[in-house]
Formats: sequence, C-alpha cells, structure tokens
Amino acid sequence: MSDRATTILVAYDQLDRHRGALQHAQPDEHSVLLVESDGMLRSRTWHAQRLHLLMSAAAHFAHELEAEGFTVHRVTAPSTAAGVEQYRASTPGVRIIGAEPSSHGLMRTWTEIGVELVPDDRFLTSRPDFAQWFAAQRSLRMDAFYRWQRLRLGILVEQGKPIGGTWSLDAENRLPPPKEPYPWPEPLHFPMDAVDEMVWADILDRALPVTGSAPDGTWATTREGALRQLHHFVDGVLPHFGPYEDAMPAGSWSVHHSLLSPYLNLGLLHASEVVDAALARYEVGDVPLASIEGFVRQVIGWREYVNGLYWQLPADYRHRNALDAHRDLPPALGEPGRTQMACVAGVVDDLHARGWVHHIPRLMVLANLALITGIEPSQVLDWMRRMFVDAADWVMVPNVIGMGVHADDGLMMTKPYAAGGAYLNRMGQSCKGCRYDPKKRTGEDACPFTTLYWGFLDRHRERFARNPRMAQQVRGLDRLSDLDALRIRAREVLVLLDRGEL
Ligand SMILES: Cc1cc2nc3c(=O)[nH]c(=O)nc-3n(C[C@H](O)[C@H](O)[C@H](O)COP(=O)(O)OP(=O)(O)OC[C@H]3O[C@@H](n4cnc5c(N)ncnc54)[C@H](O)[C@@H]3O)c2cc1C
Ligand code: SF4
Repeated sequence: MSDRATTILVAYDQLDRHRGALQHAQPDEHSVLLVESDGMLRSRTWHAQRLHLLMSAAAHFAHELEAEGFTVHRVTAPSTAAGVEQYRASTPGVRIIGAEPSSHGLMRTWTEIGVELVPDDRFLTSRPDFAQWFAAQRSLRMDAFYRWQRLRLGILVEQGKPIGGTWSLDAENRLPPPKEPYPWPEPLHFPMDAVDEMVWADILDRALPVTGSAPDGTWATTREGALRQLHHFVDGVLPHFGPYEDAMPAGSWSVHHSLLSPYLNLGLLHASEVVDAALARYEVGDVPLASIEGFVRQVIGWREYVNGLYWQLPADYRHRNALDAHRDLPPALGEPGRTQMACVAGVVDDLHARGWVHHIPRLMVLANLALITGIEPSQVLDWMRRMFVDAADWVMVPNVIGMGVHADDGLMMTKPYAAGGAYLNRMGQSCKGCRYDPKKRTGEDACPFTTLYWGFLDRHRERFARNPRMAQQVRGLDRLSDLDALRIRAREVLVLLDRGEL
C-alpha cells in the first residue's frame, strides 16, 4: 500500500479497464473516481439514447470495477472541477491520476485542477506520433496518412506494397442500393437490464432534458455487449461491408455498417481489437479484400486521422465560418414530420429513432443540406453533438466543420461535399415517394437539393472557380439556360425552409 492514497479519475469515455490510468491499477492500491457533471447534462437537450448510453455504460463500468474489488466513488456535482474538488475535500492529500481526456475542454479542466496525466492510449496513433507526421506534411490529406498507417502498422502490406496492388479499393465500394428484396443483416438487440432501467428512471426523475425515442435496447451499454456487436459484425456483416457502403436503401437503416462507433468512442472497444478481428477474417480467406480494406481504412485511417487532426488544428477551428453561413437550424431538422423532402424526413426519423444514421446520410443529406442552405456551422455542430449516440468533441469538430460544411475553407478536405438531387436519387431510394422531382431545378416541384446545389455554386462562384476540383462544376453554371429562374427559386426555397414549409 503506498503511503499516499491514489485515485484514478476516469472520464465517461475512458471505460477501458486495461488502458490509460487504469492499466496498472490494483484494488488494494487505488480507488476510482467517476464525476458526473450535472451542468453538462443539463447544458443541452440530448438525444435520450445518447444520454442513456453515456450514463448507463459508466454505471455498468463502475459495477464491474467494484466486482473486481475497487472502491468506486461516484460524485455528481455542478461541474467536473467541482466534483473533483468535492472529492479532494473529503480525502485530504489524495493524489489523482487520469489519462489525457479526449477533448480540449476537459484537458484544460483536468490540468487546471491538478490531475496528473498519463498519455491517452485509446488510439493506434499517439498524439506525439501524429504531431510528428503532421509537421512533415506540406498539405493535409487522409490518403497520405492512411498509407503511412498501413506501412507503420504493417496492415495489409507485403514488402512495403499494398496487398491487392492499390492502397484504396474504394472505387469498388460505391454501388447504389441493390434491388429489393435484399437480405439485409438484422441488427442485434440488447435487452435492457436492471442497471439500464435504473439509469433511465434516474434521467426521468431528474428531468434531464432529452429528445428522440427512449432507450429500447438498440445500443449495448457494456463491454460484453460491445464484443457481441463486434463478433456479429465480423462474422456476418463484414463480408458485404464494401459494395453498399455509400448506399441509402429504404429497406435497412444499418446497411452493412459495423455500428461500432459508440463503443469505440466510449472505450468499450479498442481500435486494435476491432482491426485484428477484421484481419482475422481476411486470413480465413472468405471476405473480399475490398470489404476488409474499406473497413480497415475507416478505423486506422479516418478515425485516427480525425482524432490526430483535432489536436493539431488551430484553436479557433471550431468557430470557423469560411462560407459566411448564418442561417438558423431549420424546423426540418428539428423534429420528425416537419418536411416534405422525403430523404431528409427519412434521415430525421431514423436519427430520432436511434441517434444514429450511417456516414452518407450524415454527410450527403444532413451536412449537405446545411452546406448548400448556409446554416451556421456552430449550430450544426451543436445539434449533431446532442443528437448522435457516438458524438464526441474530437470526432464532431473535424467531421462537421471540415468535412461536413467546409467552414474551414478546405483545410481538411480539398472540396465541399455539395450534391444535388441526382446524387441522392442514385444512392438513395426516397425520391420515388417524394413530392419533389430530383431532375428539376426550377418550379414548385423542383427538388430543393438540386435547386440549392446550383444556388450554392452560384453564391460562391468566385471562391470555387479558383479550386481545381470545383472549377468544372462552377463552369456548369454557365451552361444553365435558366440561371435567372433558378436564382429566384433558390431564394423562395430558402424562405420556405426557414418557415418549415419545404
Ligand atoms: C457530419 C458528420 C458527423 C460525424 N459524427 C461522428 C461522431 O460524432 N462520432 C463518430 O464516431 N463518427 C462520426 N462521423 C463519422 C462516421 O459517420 C461514423 O463514424 C460512422 O457512421 C459510425 O458508424 P459505424 O460504426 O457503423 O461505422 P462504419 O462505417 O462501420 O466504420 C467503422 C468505423 O470507422 C470509424 N470512422 C469512419 N469514418 C469516420 C470519420 N469520418 N471520422 C471518425 N471515425 C470514422 C468509426 O469509428 C466507425 O465505427 C461523422 C461523419 C460526418 C460526415
Ligand atoms: S426529390 Fe430531392 S428532396 Fe425529394 S427525396 Fe429526392 S433528393 Fe430528397
């Protein structure tokens, strides 16, 4: 027993017994502190399933540590800092250790209140390693980072060359939805246990601000459940991950995606075990390389890149608004049933039902709508952070500000992800049942995405004409015979959007 009591401070997204400050912790030498910031919980109206997952996963984790013999102090206070001070006052002289938190805000708080920090090891790329890679880049590109990762980690490479002959097999992975009926995988269900029920009752009793559907077992709240999801994915879903990765079919909300992001982001799973499990399937030889590579790229590429960038981007990055976008969040995104745009209605319904939609609805429906209508980036960021079960500051800031709404003027992505109805019609199945026509850009039944896509290019013509990856699209404006009518319709559409009549 050390002569000075040592307590491990665990953030709600550090639920990994074998990493961070808990890695070498022993029940007879250390106790554990989990602080719930009531101020944070009440700061926004969260998706009910997001709040429940966060709180219930922490509660389960605390029980698991107690079962191992740890004393776990669970403190609820107006803020994290107040909670730690309250604990310190009750345990004079205590030494508090924690792993580097995942957000700038919590990093500042923990440093200010004197928490001794050990490095964050929840990723495959340490913050110093990424910083070194970053410093050596002339321009930032994920594909360069991904190549570096593959070589550095020795994943899907042979003698310094990519297995399959090319680093990315994405070109094979962009099929539109298949014809129905198609045997989509059935997502797992995780029946709520007593802890889940108690946490939900607590959320209701305390009248914590929530929206969306109540927790219903869509999301696991334990490591055991997260492992079940991982095995379900690699055994039955991964073989088909690639081809329909970008498709938005009517018949499935999960498509062939892994549904692992909430667990990875809370620390219930580590990226290394997820990648190892996928690669093990490749060794067996019954999963197409395009699916394996496509999935591995998401985890060792995009996820690590986004986290690395978060720690390197300028401090004002989250407030950037390069396209001068100041529209308020429209009613169409606020709650279900507030829009006639069938694609948006479907995605908002899904988001309210489970706090999750896959990458393409996030990027090409929600963020695209925000981009081409000019919604204020900070409002989009705040809304998505409240609504998604897998949200975290480190992952939302680059994905929304950089990838989603191009508010960083191309620091992260070379071009904005703006698209009209033609793309959504090809990759989704909503247009057939929609009151609007994806092919039309003017007139009352013109697809708002098509109208606003051209309106967006028109508004930012000068800026994007200078961008080699956008210049061709901008030149397309000059070929439009109805540009004047389109400008009038674009203004009308924005008024209707603001009024909730679109
Ligand atoms: C506007 C916008 C907001 C997003 N917000 C979040 C968020 O809050 N939390 C989050 O985890 N992801 C976010 N993403 C990235 C991505 O959409 C989700 O990680 C993915 O949809 C989660 O579902 P999945 O686990 O089934 O992913 P899969 O498609 O199965 O991919 C496997 C894993 O790759 C990782 N991954 C893939 N793309 C990204 C990416 N762009 N950034 C970081 N990780 C990635 C995730 O950990 C994911 O679990 C966002 C993307 C956009 C465009
Ligand atoms: S027509 Fe336009 S608004 Fe309607 S579903 Fe298709 S893309 Fe969406």
